[in-house]
Amino acid sequence: GMSGPGFGLIGTGFMGRAHAIALHEVAVVFDDIARPRAVCVSDRDDERAGRAAAELRFERATGDWRSLLKDPAIDVLDICTPNHLHFEMARAALAAGKHVYCEKPLALDVREAATLAAAARESGAVHGLGLNYTANPMAQVARELIAAGEIGDVVHFTGRYFEDYMADRDGPFTWRCERALAGAGALADLGSHLVNMLHFLVGRPQRVLGEVHIAIPERRDPATGALRRVENEDIARALIELESGVPATLEISRVATGRKCGLTFEVYGTRGSIAFDQERMNELKLYGAGQAAARAGYQTILAGPAHGDYARFCPSPGHGLGINDLKVIELHNFIRAVECGEGFYPDFDEGLAVQRVMAAIETSGAERAWVDVEH
Ligand code: NAD
Repeated sequence: GMSGPGFGLIGTGFMGRAHAIALHEVAVVFDDIARPRAVCVSDRDDERAGRAAAELRFERATGDWRSLLKDPAIDVLDICTPNHLHFEMARAALAAGKHVYCEKPLALDVREAATLAAAARESGAVHGLGLNYTANPMAQVARELIAAGEIGDVVHFTGRYFEDYMADRDGPFTWRCERALAGAGALADLGSHLVNMLHFLVGRPQRVLGEVHIAIPERRDPATGALRRVENEDIARALIELESGVPATLEISRVATGRKCGLTFEVYGTRGSIAFDQERMNELKLYGAGQAAARAGYQTILAGPAHGDYARFCPSPGHGLGINDLKVIELHNFIRAVECGEGFYPDFDEGLAVQRVMAAIETSGAERAWVDVEH
C-alpha cells in the first residue's frame, strides 16, 4: 500500500525519542520503503503519553500500553522501556501477532531471553534488537575486511565499552542500579553492545573467566533522599576463549571518568589489524603488514559513500554520520524485514546469545572459575 507498517512506541525517554526521530526520517533517507506510520505512543500515564504524542508527532497516545496489542492499525510494537518491561511487553506483542522491535538488552536473564527467542521463532513475526553499533557502516567495513582475510588470520580480539554516566558518586540511584528493573549493571547496559560486536566481527565465546565489581556501593534515591544499595556491577571484565580458539578480552565500565561513549575494539591478525573507537565513529584504523619499516603505520579510513548505507545520508566522504543515523539504518533494516521478508540482524536469537555470554561472565565471577557459555 501507500503507507508502511504502523508503529506503536512504548517509552519516550532517551531511546523512545531516538526511535521517533528515526521513524520520521527513515523513508526520506531510504526510498525503497513506504513511509512507516507513527500511530500511537505510550508511556506510564495518559498525561505523559499525550505530551509525548505532541512532541514526537504521533497520531494518538495512551497511558495503557496493552491497548496497542488490540489495535489493528499497529503492526510493530516498538519497546523503549526499562529492561524489566521488555519480557512482558515483547511476549504480549508476539502473542498478539505483532512484529517486535525492542531495545537492548533483550531481557533480565537467560531464562526470560530463551522464552522470548523461542516465542519469536515460532511466531513468524520479525523480531529485532536495538544493538545499533553493529549498524555502523564502519563496523560493517571492519567485518568485511576481516572476513575477506585482509588482516590474515585473527589471533586476538580486545574490546572495551567505557562510559562515565555513573562515575559521580553523588549521582542519583536510578532504575539502572536495581536488579529487578535492569538485571545486570554495566554488563547489561554496555556489555550487551560489546558482546554483539564481538559476535559480529569474530565469533562466539566458548568459555569465559569473568569478574564483576561494584565501585560505588550506595547512591541517593532522588525520590526519598535516602541512600540505597546499588544492586549490580559498575565494572565487568572477562577473559574469553572463542569457539575458534582465539583469545578475546572484554572490559566494561559505567564509572570510567572521562569516557562518554568509549566502545572500542582492536582485532589483530597475522597480516594486519583493525582498531575502532565509537567516540570517533566515522573512522576505522587499518594496519597492513609488509609496509616499509620507516613509514609503517595505521591508515585512517574516513566514512564515506563507499561504505554501507552512508551514501543514503550524504554524497561526500568525511562529513560523518551520528548515532541517530545508526538508528535510521537499523529501522530501515527492520522495515525491509517486515515488508520484504529480509532477515533482520541482530534478532532475538542474537539477544539470547548475548544474554548467555553476560550470564557466563557473572557466574564465573561468582564462582571465581572458568565457565562454559551455554548453547
Ligand atoms: P529512560 O529512563 O530515558 O526512558 C524510559 C521510558 O519508559 C520513560 O519514558 C518512562 O516513563 C517509560 N516507562 C517506564 N515504565 C513504563 C511503563 N510501565 N509503561 C510505559 N512506559 C514506561 O530510559 P532509556 O535510556 O530510554 O532506556 C530505555 C531502554 O533503551 C533500556 O532498555 C535501555 O537499555 C535501552 N537503551 C539503549 C541504547 C542504545 O544505544 N541502543 C541507549 C540507551 C538506552
